[in-house]
Formats: sequence, C-alpha cells, structure tokens
Amino acid sequence: MSECVLEEIFIKRSQQKRKTSPLNYKERWFILTNEKLAYYDFDPEKGKRKGLRGSVDLEKIKCVEIVQPEPNAPQDRIYAFQIVYDEGPLYIFAKSEKVRAQWIKKLKEMVRFNKDLTQKYHPCSWMDGVWLCCQQEVKQAMGCKVLDGKNGFSFKPPGRRVSRKPLPPTPTEETPGRPLPPEPPGPPVSMTVIAQYNYTPVAPQDLELRRDEEYTILDKSDANWWRAKDKYGKEGYIPSNYVVKTEEGLERYEWYCKNVNRSQAEKLLKTENKDGGFMVRDSSKTGKYTVSLFTKSGGEPGGSCRHYNICTSSQNQFYLAEKHNFTTISELINYHQHNAAGMVSRLKHIVSNRARPPSTAGLGYDMWEIDPRDLTFIKELGNGQFGVVQYGKWQGQHDVAIKKIKEGSMSEDDFIDEAKIMMKLCHENLVQLYGVCTKQRPIYIVTEYLSNGCLLVYLREGLKQAPSTVQLLEMCKDVTEGMAYLESKQYIHRDLAARNCLVDSNGTVKVTDFGLSRYVLDDEYTSSAGSKFPVRWSPPEVLLYCKFSSKSDIWAYGVLMWEMYTLGQLPYERLNNTEIVAQVSRGLRLYRPKMANEKVYSIMTSCWLEKAEERPTFEELVLTVQDLLYELQ
Ligand code: ADP
Ligand code: MG
Repeated sequence: MSECVLEEIFIKRSQQKRKTSPLNYKERWFILTNEKLAYYDFDPEKGKRKGLRGSVDLEKIKCVEIVQPEPNAPQDRIYAFQIVYDEGPLYIFAKSEKVRAQWIKKLKEMVRFNKDLTQKYHPCSWMDGVWLCCQQEVKQAMGCKVLDGKNGFSFKPPGRRVSRKPLPPTPTEETPGRPLPPEPPGPPVSMTVIAQYNYTPVAPQDLELRRDEEYTILDKSDANWWRAKDKYGKEGYIPSNYVVKTEEGLERYEWYCKNVNRSQAEKLLKTENKDGGFMVRDSSKTGKYTVSLFTKSGGEPGGSCRHYNICTSSQNQFYLAEKHNFTTISELINYHQHNAAGMVSRLKHIVSNRARPPSTAGLGYDMWEIDPRDLTFIKELGNGQFGVVQYGKWQGQHDVAIKKIKEGSMSEDDFIDEAKIMMKLCHENLVQLYGVCTKQRPIYIVTEYLSNGCLLVYLREGLKQAPSTVQLLEMCKDVTEGMAYLESKQYIHRDLAARNCLVDSNGTVKVTDFGLSRYVLDDEYTSSAGSKFPVRWSPPEVLLYCKFSSKSDIWAYGVLMWEMYTLGQLPYERLNNTEIVAQVSRGLRLYRPKMANEKVYSIMTSCWLEKAEERPTFEELVLTVQDLLYELQ
C-alpha cells in the first residue's frame, strides 16, 4: 500500500445518486495516498479506524474546489470542498479554513496532470436534483463558473444563501390548464447583466436593450421576462435570454458561440468563407471548449475546418496547440488573434452566430394576443391538421409562421386557455409560440418561423449530401434537449415524430406542436383506433389503455431516432395500423437502420422497453447522446 500523504477526520455528505434519496452527513476518516483518497468508518471513542467505506482514484478526479456552504448550513459544515470525479461530486466539510486550504492545495497538486480536468465548475452544491448555483437539473451539467486559475482561494466568506428549488413531482398524466411547476425564486441581491442583443420595446412595459450595455435586474419571478433598470434609471421588462451575467466570462465575447455544435460551426465558417475565420464553442466534452478555425491554405479546394481543444495546464492555465499558457480564455484568444503558434493560421476573423437574436417567450412582456393588423402574409408553407400555415412578418420585420385554424378543427376555447401556458415554454430546441389572434375567426396561432421546414421532408429530400453519423446524432441531440426541457416542466408532447419537428436555417432541429393533439376535433386523429392516430409512434400502454406520459414520449423519441437514421422512412412500412397494434404488443420492434451502429440502436431499443418505467428519461438521454457524440469526434 502506498504511503499516507494526508489524514483527517471530515464530515462527508452522502452522494445522492438518486434524486430523491435523503442526504446524510457522517464523520469519516479520510486518508490520502499517492493513488487514492479513501474514507473509513471509525470509532470516535477509541479513535480507531474501521472498515473502508469508499474511495476515489486520484486519476479520475476532474476538479478540486471549495464549495459554498449549503443553505442554512450548521457551523461544522461551513468549510466545504468538492472533489469532482466521474461519479459526480464528493462533498467534504473541514473543521477550519486552514485544514480545507491545506487539503485543496495538496489535492490540486496531485491531480494537476489529470487529462480530464474541467475548466468550469459549480460553486454551489448539487441538492435534491438541482444545482443550487445555476438551477440546472442535470447532475452532469457543465459547471456554470469558469475556474479562475487561482486555486479557488478567492473565496468569499459564507453569508449569502442561495435559495433552493422545490423538487418537482414525477411527471405523469397532466391535467389541462394546470400551471407549469414554479420557477425558482431569484437571488435576493440585485444582479448586473450585459445585453448580448438589441431589443426594441414592443409591449408598453418593455425596456429597450442595447447590446453590450449593463442593466440591473430587479425581479426574476417570471423566468422569461425579467424586470430590469438601465443606466438612466429607466425600468421595464426584458427577455431574460438576451442578457448574461457580467461575471460569467465568455458569453460577453463575440467569438463565443454557446449553442453551436461541430457541424454547425463548420457550416457557419464555410459560409463566411474567410481564411482565419474562427469561433469558440462548447466542446462535446462537458466543461471544455473548442476553437473552430477555417483555413484556405489547408490544401482542400474549398477550404477546410480545424477544431482545437482548449487544454488546461498543470497550473490550471489555458493553452491551445503549443504551450503558450494564459490565465483566462479571453487572453488566450487575444494572443492567438496575433499568433498562429502551432495552428494552421492565426485567428483572423470572428465568425458569430449572434447575428440573429433568439426567440422570446411572446413578442413582448405579458403579450399573447396579437393584433392581426400587425401581420403580413407572404407565402404558404404547407397544410396541416388545422388548415393552412403561412410564412409572414409581424410589424413588417419579424419572421413568423401563422397557422390559420380551420373552423371546426380545434376545440378553440380550451386551446386559448392552454396557449398562455405554452407561451411560457421557452427553449432553443422548441418552436416558440409567440401568441394568438382570437378576436376573429378563423383564429391564428403565431409561432417562430424555421426556414428549413419540416424535419421529415428535410430528411427525405432537403439534405444536399448524405448526412454523417455525427450530423444525425447532433440532430437527435437537439430533439433530446427540447424534450428534456418539456419533461422538466412535466409537459407531455403526445405526438412526437419527425413530422412535428422543424429545421432552422443553421440546421438546428426544434420540436413543435407539443400538447396540441388534445385540442384536435377529429376522431380519426384522437381515437387510438382512428386512421390518423400516431400508432407507429405509440407504445403498447398508449395503444391498449391510452396511457400518455413522458415515457410514452420516450417511445416516440426512439421511433423519431429511427426516422432520422433511415432518412425519413415510414416505421413498420409493410404493416397497417391494426397489425402494428397486435405485433408491437407481442414484442415486435423496428429493425436497426443501416446508418445506426449498435450503440445508436441500443438507445432506440431502450426507448422501446415494454415496461414504461424501465425506459430512460430525456434527462438521461441527453447525457447518453452527448457521450456518444464525444466518442465519435
Ligand atoms: P398541423 O400541425 O396543423 O398539422 P403543421 O405544423 O404540420 O400543421 O404544418 C404544416 C406544414 O407547414 C409543415 O409540414 C411545415 O412544412 C410548415 N410549417 C409549419 N410550421 C412552420 C414553421 N413554424 N416554420 C416553417 N414551416 C412551418
Ligand atoms: Mg404538425
């Protein structure tokens, strides 16, 4: 056995591998050796070490940092630190600042050459299914704070408490008109943000945003529209997705493109077609960043893209191709804007996806009734269950899609009530509902417009060349993320399929028509025996007992993945609906598409498990797809 480096009795928090398992805190005898951090039971009276309770291999450690004390922490749990490794964070509480600093310093020193060190971390703990710092609900979610490279000793003394989000109940059958789960209350202190986009006021209570200017946030009780004050003291509501916190480093830089994946980065860089065009994006590996760079001197006729991971050095410094180390990523980028230093070119031109602002939850604060006189109709996009869908403009400049609801096709009053809830659903992988025109007949539903149209058509005929497996998986990831958001809001889609997804100009896929099937007035569509019922996307419990849940959405997601990997074939092509009901209940499943490897197919089959509770959640699928993407790249 290797020698003991440090030894101490600490309080250890249970790791809460399941969201609902209660937390406990136990004193353990910690022993740090050159290979492991092990902790043991001990007898406090005799002062003797007893059985081994667990250990962490040092080489698996990704981050060692202090952590803010938990809300209302007792005195003996103030000096907390975290050891993040592949199974999540381990929280340990030291008796004093001195002991904590000593252990953090030693541990950092010992893991400094680990290859998986992260560049971001969570300053607060994970508790009952949520990160207390950023309110993200996925345990593996990327850290929300960039490590400052100073070994984390710039710690503010405890005092500020972070409020805790209540644990949502497990998603089951929803009742119409029920409100979405409550949003976490905002932090009590006022927060300063920077506008990433301009925003022109629309509703009377809106506040104008000017890009790069600072604003103070006064009220965050509405997750989508925050009350803010500008530097002249003027107050009003702003879309929360147009601003970033000032201390959150990278978002303020034009070259940082947060929600851009590898394929999209290549597309954006190639479209720009400038030698030395670049952007920084989140790597498919959680917590890391990648620089994507376009060069015309790489030998390929149309130019080519290179992707460089931003690495972390032993001293927690950042570097790219060669070892020119920097304390911050912005200093690193600044340096490489002038020096290629090992890359094919220096970073010459910023290519940004920030030209187009994201969708807002409604066109202005508290605005869901839209004046039809503000709409201009430009062209017909298609025909759906409710009638014609048109592309148009709102107030002459904002792209919108307008569904004219054919009279008698929808239970309108019920829908109008629900629309207020649907408007609040706001995610980059969901087609945003902007509002409704209900004062006239036919009523209109106004949504975000996506120029590449329906995913099913896009898969069948819209792709210029056969998509790569990475590209298909990236599209799956988009859907998974949108659905994980719906799942977290306990919102059931009920009709997830490629025909109900749309593709935007960048190739991002967004889910649409969520929950809408409940308002269709057409027995052929709503009855599971009807000819228009989505039998091919339904699990046995829906076909047999009409039992909808997030788990029936998961089944449909598996079928949608299958549609992706067959480029839009009809599931169970040779069978009719009656045959499908009989065969699927007896265990028949779709075959493995040629383009799907075993791992991809195993995701699909996990969605088609007979027992609904054994299927994964969307939250879990996000991680599975992400891991697979990382393996492929
Ligand atoms: P419904 O849900 O009423 O059956 P759809 O949503 O399927 O109707 O719309 C019919 C067609 O119109 C789609 O297949 C798609 O091509 C087009 N379409 C619908 N909504 C949009 C949108 N927001 N952006 C772009 N095209 C759209
Ligand atoms: Mg539809």
